[in-house]
Amino acid sequence: MKKLRLATLWLDGCSGCHMSLLDADERLLELTAFFDIVYSPLVDVKQFPEKVDITCIEGPISSPEDERLLAEVRKRTRLLVAMGDCAVTGNIPAMRNIEGAPAMLQNIYTGQELLQPQVPGTDIPILNDKALPIHHFVPVDLFIPGCPPSADTLFTTLTALVKGETDQIPLPACFGA
Ligand code: SF4
Repeated sequence: MKKLRLATLWLDGCSGCHMSLLDADERLLELTAFFDIVYSPLVDVKQFPEKVDITCIEGPISSPEDERLLAEVRKRTRLLVAMGDCAVTGNIPAMRNIEGAPAMLQNIYTGQELLQPQVPGTDIPILNDKALPIHHFVPVDLFIPGCPPSADTLFTTLTALVKGETDQIPLPACFGA
């Protein structure tokens, strides 16, 4: 049987969703019979490859670089999965949307009792004014809410996807419109 090509992408999340995936422990080894991980923080691949079957994305879109990468990933992926509340809704990174990025940076870097309060110039990535969920930018095929989704939910969903048994995908995961 031809193995599927699986990728995971870490955008503006805390890595908790990837940690939860790893929490599936040795059960993940069972799944390696069905897929190869071709891009992920878990493997050392620098460029997002062509012809990926499934990409699970953690985190919202918070910068022009996130947008560029997401567009590339969407073009190269058959089934795109929003993994966790940050990718699904914006969640915690979107809390800054109330004041916007410039005011947030001012508050963080100058609103404290710091020795040299100043907003860094070139040392931090350029931020979009708002952190937004990935479906604001590209079509998303499957949403898996949770902060983070449990290891069981991620494992069961991935198992259903790689086996083509989509009726086994557990709630609250749901397909996009
Ligand atoms: S959904 Fe929760 S665990 Fe996942 S990246 Fe966001 S804050 Fe972290």
